[in-house]
Amino acid sequence: MPSPLEEIIEQKIRDDGPMSIGAYMALALGHSAHGYYMKQDPFGRSKNYGGDFVTAPEVSQLFGEMIGVWAADLWMQMGRPERLALVECGPGRGTLMADLLRATSGVDGFHEAVHVHLVEMSPVLREKQREALGGYDVVWHEDFESVQDDAPLIVIGNEFLDALPFEQYIGGVQRTVDLRADGRLCFVPEDGEVVERAPVREGFVQQVCERIKAQGGAALFIDYGHMKSGVGDTFQAIKGHEYVDVLSHIGDADLTSHVDFEALQKGVDIGICGPVCQGDFLRALGIGLRTRTLMQKAEGKQALAIEKGLHRLVDSDQMGVLFKAVGFYHHDKPIAPAGF
Ligand code: SAH
Repeated sequence: MPSPLEEIIEQKIRDDGPMSIGAYMALALGHSAHGYYMKQDPFGRSKNYGGDFVTAPEVSQLFGEMIGVWAADLWMQMGRPERLALVECGPGRGTLMADLLRATSGVDGFHEAVHVHLVEMSPVLREKQREALGGYDVVWHEDFESVQDDAPLIVIGNEFLDALPFEQYIGGVQRTVDLRADGRLCFVPEDGEVVERAPVREGFVQQVCERIKAQGGAALFIDYGHMKSGVGDTFQAIKGHEYVDVLSHIGDADLTSHVDFEALQKGVDIGICGPVCQGDFLRALGIGLRTRTLMQKAEGKQALAIEKGLHRLVDSDQMGVLFKAVGFYHHDKPIAPAGF
């Protein structure tokens, strides 16, 4: 039985012809009724604990705390502006922002300055974010453009860029999603060396950088991907912590592609730091020291969990090397984002 979204996509192809991968991805993730993010909370710790995948803030509170250190340090370097627009794109369950705010509650004046903006398309996840951020004033937006705050900005996105639509090319021909004679979905062309481009993703980063150039501040994006542009097919679908076919389970599997961090920097005319590997970034921010402090106060099982979380975030065979961090900052001011 095809899912409702599969039927919608197939009908669209019958009506309008082959569909770009970007359009396919945008529907599979963001269709208002049946899109993957629109109808469910996809996060879960492991196969045994449900969900489809786990992200760094869900692995350990250390992650959001370190981003909090990064943001508060930057605010101080910026000369403690009275108002700061703290924007998170794709906040998931709101865990990162909750940990960030808790970790910075002792930074004199920071919470008074901060206005939190969340860019989130999913009504289900907005609800989770509302629960996680109970005590805080938060404003939600459909997209970054709708954030109408003219204060200096700190923009954060963890595993946001990988969810934005991208395109593939084989031999210079744009790859599309089409219907086979038997009515099943397929790629055209099917085989060959794949080159990926992500104009929506790069356009989004440029838009953020233009705002930073005009208003001051910085942005931090963390995601899985490669430092240098290359060739290869990185389109992937994850369901229940396993890779599945990208053309099946439509609306029930997460679809992403790896972020090309070299391409991301093109056309940006403000300061850039990194990209660096996530492990190096978190270590430079002091995750080791923070872990030791937490462990001193923790009991046996709890201490073990804290240590396990640290390893998952920084070890090179875990998230430490595949994930990269890149910063963009207003270079007219003498600020140096930490961690790079
Ligand atoms: N940052 C979170 C969640 C990552 S998953 C974490 O690290 O746990 C991707 C997030 O981006 C989800 O919250 C999803 O709903 C949101 N998202 C994906 N595409 C989006 C888009 N085009 N506009 C707004 N939000 C989007």
